[in-house]
Amino acid sequence: MIDLRSDTVTKPGPGMLEAMFSAKVGDDVFREDPTVIELEEKTAQKFGMEDGLFCPSGTMANQIAIKAHTQPGDELLCDALAHIYNYEGGGISFNSGVQAKLLQGNLGRFTARQVEENINPLQDWLCRTALVAVENTVNRAGGSYYNLAQLKEIAEVCKKNKIRFHMDGARIFNALTETKENPAAYSLLFDSISVCFSKGLGTPAGSVLIGKKEFIRQARRIRKVLGGGMRQAGFLAAAAVYALENNILRLKEDHQRAKRLAEVVRSLPFVESTFPVDTNIIIFSLSDRIKPEDFTDRLAQNKIRVSGFGKQSIRMVTHIDFNDDMLGKTIEVLKNLPM
Ligand SMILES: *Cc1c(COP(=O)(O)O)cnc(C)c1O
Repeated sequence: MIDLRSDTVTKPGPGMLEAMFSAKVGDDVFREDPTVIELEEKTAQKFGMEDGLFCPSGTMANQIAIKAHTQPGDELLCDALAHIYNYEGGGISFNSGVQAKLLQGNLGRFTARQVEENINPLQDWLCRTALVAVENTVNRAGGSYYNLAQLKEIAEVCKKNKIRFHMDGARIFNALTETKENPAAYSLLFDSISVCFSKGLGTPAGSVLIGKKEFIRQARRIRKVLGGGMRQAGFLAAAAVYALENNILRLKEDHQRAKRLAEVVRSLPFVESTFPVDTNIIIFSLSDRIKPEDFTDRLAQNKIRVSGFGKQSIRMVTHIDFNDDMLGKTIEVLKNLPM
């Protein structure tokens, strides 16, 4: 089976499993798991941040950040395509009592000017704008990314207006693979970043939320309230430490395979349009005469799985368990689909 539905479908290889089996663990709610502490420190250091918090999922890491940065009745600014708004079960309002003002960005990326124009002045009858959240890379827009200069402009607007700045970095290493920027430069811009290990980095679970010491102290308390305090989580953290050391440089391969797949997809007569493919996500739409279910069924008959992504859209995501042989087979099947 070739599974292109998501970069979350990967399974740990022998090196990662070995690291997990031999992890030193303890009760992390008591702060006694050395591997969790190692992962939190290493992730924070990489981005020049003071401290980190290991969370069961990217959703929880984002939701904890939103809760820590806001008060009920506040507003946050994010793009209309943002994961925190679209795919976290309404958590912004459920967990934090906060509402979202949606910005219409370019492929999921908005500008400093748009932020400036959407900050509410301080009036009793207006929502307090408390937080700006960017997503990097943007899942819903085919893995587009920001560069540091764009983020710096937004950060300056946030600082000037005393607004917190969060990055949903579920695929931050995919972005950094392309920009070749130093992750440590991010610490000057952001109050918090969530970094996911179960996407491109290929671990079974987990995200690390990073920020200043005081923020992480507050975040740790919120994690417990949300039910995310884990005990011998070092077995999972060990996979993430292994991924930090071994699975970042190889992301370039995923991007190259995605670009090759995109070229083929664009050449298919029944494909109407394709998002630019900047990293590892290919989103395209089928012409009206094709039912998306028929397309996905035909691929499934050839042992290839992709996801329907709303209306006529299809998403394919390359990852560590998708190799060159599978790329060759997928291209052959796509080119010969009787549609
Ligand atoms: C996957 C993802 C998350 C986190 O999702 P979980 O499934 O909860 O780990 C957050 N943001 C983006 C952009 C994502 O793609």
